[in-house]
Amino acid sequence: MNPELAILVRLQGIDLEIRKFNQQKASLPRRFNAIQEQLLSKEAERDKLKDRLSEIQKRKVDIEDEFELENTRLGKSQKKISSVKTNREYTALQKEINEIKKANTSREDELLVIMEEIASLQEEIKAKKKEITQSRREMKAEQKRIEELGAEMDTKIAALTKDRDAVSQEVRPDLLSKYNFIKDKRGGVAVAAVSEGACCACNMNIPPQLYNELLKEEKIFTCPSCQRLIYALKVDKK
Ligand SMILES: [Zn+2]
Repeated sequence: MNPELAILVRLQGIDLEIRKFNQQKASLPRRFNAIQEQLLSKEAERDKLKDRLSEIQKRKVDIEDEFELENTRLGKSQKKISSVKTNREYTALQKEINEIKKANTSREDELLVIMEEIASLQEEIKAKKKEITQSRREMKAEQKRIEELGAEMDTKIAALTKDRDAVSQEVRPDLLSKYNFIKDKRGGVAVAAVSEGACCACNMNIPPQLYNELLKEEKIFTCPSCQRLIYALKVDKK
């Protein structure tokens, strides 16, 4: 292989490693973010349950107050009925008493329904709180994992960057900047082998004349299709 290209192949190996670690690092928070999203929706559900709970607790207090008031009114009417003079007064009072009793009975029914709902809401809130605590715990553990793995990757990336700097010194500056330019444009791969007449990176055929030039390993050529720096891959026959 052309000696300058051989250095670039080494450089590319390092760059691809750096790239891999950077991608892994970038994907680290994925699970954390998913848990966080779940947590937010659980918190929203809990808040909704709490709102409903305080709404029906208010309703319960209202009904109890009405019940109390009506019960007092009932007592008064029942007291009054023994001292009424006319039949008409008696009938009217009796009607009132019945209506109060009927209304209070339906208040009692509603109270029972409300109390059942309160109990089940309290259960649901309790369960939701447990889930929230669990999610928070998972997030904390995940945070720790991200920090640890992130630090490990930073160490590896730092070491590779040091290698990269050293190898870069061995490359002509203009060739290095060409390499960097192609690498950034072509998904991290700037140097490609040509095997069986085709560029291994883009799979396009190389003109035979160019291939013959490549075999001489004198100059550095680029793939006519993807513009990567190319070299002829020679299979060792043992
Ligand atoms: Zn190509």
